[in-house]
Amino acid sequence: MIGDLVHEKLKSRYTLSVDDFVAPRLSGVSLFEFIVAVVLSQNTSDKNAWRAYSNLKDRLGVIKPEKITSLQLEELAELIRPAGMHYNRSKKLIELAKVFVERDIEGLVEHAIRSRGVREVRQILLGLPGVGYKTADVVLLMYFNQPVFPVDTHITRITLRLGFAKRRDYEEISSFWARNTRPEKYLELHLLLIEHGRETCKAKRPLCENCVLLEICQYGEKQSDSRRPFKESG
Ligand code: SF4
Repeated sequence: MIGDLVHEKLKSRYTLSVDDFVAPRLSGVSLFEFIVAVVLSQNTSDKNAWRAYSNLKDRLGVIKPEKITSLQLEELAELIRPAGMHYNRSKKLIELAKVFVERDIEGLVEHAIRSRGVREVRQILLGLPGVGYKTADVVLLMYFNQPVFPVDTHITRITLRLGFAKRRDYEEISSFWARNTRPEKYLELHLLLIEHGRETCKAKRPLCENCVLLEICQYGEKQSDSRRPFKESG
């Protein structure tokens, strides 16, 4: 399968360090704390997200919904400032915390994981403040070990350049990788693709000449053709 081939090629090129990613670093935390950390990592670097998360952790110890709702918006915003958009993000976190205080979301999700399908659990997660497709799928894959493939901006860009999707459509890209990769490789391939986007397939100037995916990449092939001085004819 093409996803397994991409996995193999990227694995030959990068050595993953869990410290470079927020979600895989978290262990033994509650669902609420996990979601908070993933919300902090939205639209920012994992390094900045980790600084924001660490500030929160230092201040609160265990990150519980009641503790978040007891903070003033200003204080929360100051703590998570490194993640950026700190006021908006703080408002979302307070809304999220309120929902967890009012309803037994952890129990609801865990029951749904045991008795219903992944789709239904995803719908519950998508109903939470601050949780979009990517966050829901990161939670499903990394917290609940469910076979879904989360997609971020790096993965979207790489997938379009490779020619594996025509549109910037979350569901299409996620389902492409899910269909074409063995489930046990989802997590590692997800992280390898992000690493590839950071190191090689950069947004502005992709380093196609140094890329292990060049021979299977539409964009890279066009770049190579345009650099050839003469085209053979006949
Ligand atoms: S060949 Fe270029 S565009 Fe294609 S995946 Fe590699 S770096 Fe990205």
